[in-house]
Amino acid sequence: SSFVHQLADEHLSEEELLADPVSKIAAVGGTRHPNIPLPRDLFGDWANSGGIDLQERSILHQTAEAIGAFPFVPEGAATVPVGDAVTRAQAAFTGWSDQSIETRAATLERLADLLEANRIELMALAVKEAFKTIPDALGEVREAADFCRYYAMQARRGLAPIALPGPTGERNELRMEGRGVWATIAPWNFPLAIFLGQTAAALVAGNTVVAKPAPQTPAIARAAVRLAHQAGVPQDALILVPGGPEVGAALTADPRIAGVAFTGSTPTAKKIARALLDGDDRPLVPLIAETGGINAMIVDSTALPEQVVADVLTSSFRSAGQRCSALRLLVLQEEIADTVIEMLKGAMELLVIGDSGDPATDVGPVIDDAAYDKLMGYRDSVKARWMKTLPVPATGRFVPPTMIRLDDMDDLRTEWFGPILHVATWPAGELARTIDRINAKGFGLTMGLHSRIARSGELAEMRARVGNLYINRSMIGAVVGSQPFGGEGQSGTGPKAGGPHYLHRFCAERSVSVDT
Ligand code: GLU
Repeated sequence: SSFVHQLADEHLSEEELLADPVSKIAAVGGTRHPNIPLPRDLFGDWANSGGIDLQERSILHQTAEAIGAFPFVPEGAATVPVGDAVTRAQAAFTGWSDQSIETRAATLERLADLLEANRIELMALAVKEAFKTIPDALGEVREAADFCRYYAMQARRGLAPIALPGPTGERNELRMEGRGVWATIAPWNFPLAIFLGQTAAALVAGNTVVAKPAPQTPAIARAAVRLAHQAGVPQDALILVPGGPEVGAALTADPRIAGVAFTGSTPTAKKIARALLDGDDRPLVPLIAETGGINAMIVDSTALPEQVVADVLTSSFRSAGQRCSALRLLVLQEEIADTVIEMLKGAMELLVIGDSGDPATDVGPVIDDAAYDKLMGYRDSVKARWMKTLPVPATGRFVPPTMIRLDDMDDLRTEWFGPILHVATWPAGELARTIDRINAKGFGLTMGLHSRIARSGELAEMRARVGNLYINRSMIGAVVGSQPFGGEGQSGTGPKAGGPHYLHRFCAERSVSVDT
C-alpha cells in the first residue's frame, strides 16, 4: 500500500481543497453539531479528535483516490482455531496483566497514533469492505483513536488501587484487576471503531482478548490488530478469529472465557447470554451487550422545522440507516405534521444516493444481499403507506430512502436496519403519554425531542427510558467522552462505551485487608 502513503504526503492546493464536492462532504460531516475539539483542560490529558477542517478535506481527496487503486484483498477464513486462540490468550494473561497501568495506557496511545498515521489505508478499507461513505470512514478512524486515548486516560484515572479506611493496624485496599481472556464480538457497521473500542477497553483493563470481527468485515479488523501489535500489545494478548456465527458460538461456549463484550442484534445477545450459562462447572462471567433499538424522535409545534428536517435526514439516512442509534420513528405533533412532512419530502430529494467511494454520496449501498432482501421485502410489503421514496442507481444494493406513514405509532414493533423512516403523529397535551408509549416498545437506546419548551425537555429527561437522549439535535454520532453510548431494556445491558465507568465492567474488583 505504499502508494497510499505517498498520497498522504502530497500537498493539495487551497483551491483543490475548497472545490466541490468536498465542501458538501464537510457540510454532511459536520453540520450543526460538529465534533468540536474539546478543550484539553476539560479532560485532562485527553481531547477528542474534532471536526472536519481544511486539513481534513485533503484527507477526503486522498481517500477518494486511494479507494480507486486500493489493492484490496478480502480476508476470510479463521487462521487460528478458537480453542487454540483461547489457550494462547490465557497463557499471555499473566504477562500482560502484570504490566503497569501506565504501560498498558501508553500502548493504547501509541495505537491511537498509528491509527491516525494509517488513516488513509483504514478509510479506504472501511469504504471498500463495509461500504462506508467517505465522511463515515473518517468518523470510524477518529472514533477508534478517540476510544484508545480516552480509555488510556480513564485507566490512569480509575484503575489504580484505592486505599480504604479501617481501624488502626489494618490496611484496606480496593483493586481493579483484569479478569482473564475476554471475547469481543463486533458488528460490521462500525468495523473499526466498535471492534477496537471493545478490544482496547478489555486490554487496558488488564485482560487478554480473542476478538471476532463481523464476517462481513475481517480485513479492516486484521489491519487494526496488526497496528495494535505494532503499538506493543503482545502477539498472544490479542488474537483475531475471523469467521461467522460458528466461530462466535465456539468462543462463547469456551468455559475459559472470562467475559464477553458484544455489539450486534438483540437475538444474538440473548443467544450469547444463554451460552454463557450453559455448563454446571462454568464460572459466572459478565456480558456487555449493546444491541438495537426502535429509536423515536418526538417533535412538538414549537420546534424549528428547518432544524427538525436537517436532524431527521441525518439521523435516519446517514450511513444508510445502518446505525443502531438511527431514527426509526418520527412522531410529529398533529398541528405541524403536514408542514414538516412536506418539508421532509423536499429535503429528501437532495440526498445523493451512490457508490460509497464517491465523495458526493450521502447514502451508499447496504452491507450485503441478505440485508438488501430483508429491507426491500419489508418496503414492498408496506407500499400502500409510502409517503416518499427516491430513485436509486440501477445496479447495486441500494435501498431507496423511504418515508412510511403509520396510522398508529404502536404499529412499529421491529427494528428495520436501513434507510426507512416511519412517521406517526401525537395529539397536543400528550407528551408524557407519547414518551411512555415509546418506552413501552421495550427498547431503550436513543430518543430525540425537538421542542423549545424547557418543561418538555425536563419531562423527557425524567421519563425517557433510554441510554442516549438527544434534545434539539440529531440522534446519531455519539462522541467519545461527551455522549457515553449504550442502551437498556432490549437495547443492551447498559455499560456505556466512551464513558467514565466502562473500564470497570471489564475488571474483577478485589478488596484486600491486611492486619499490619
Ligand atoms: N455510536 C453510534 C452512534 O452514536 C452507533 C453505534 C452502533 O450503531 O452500534 O451513532
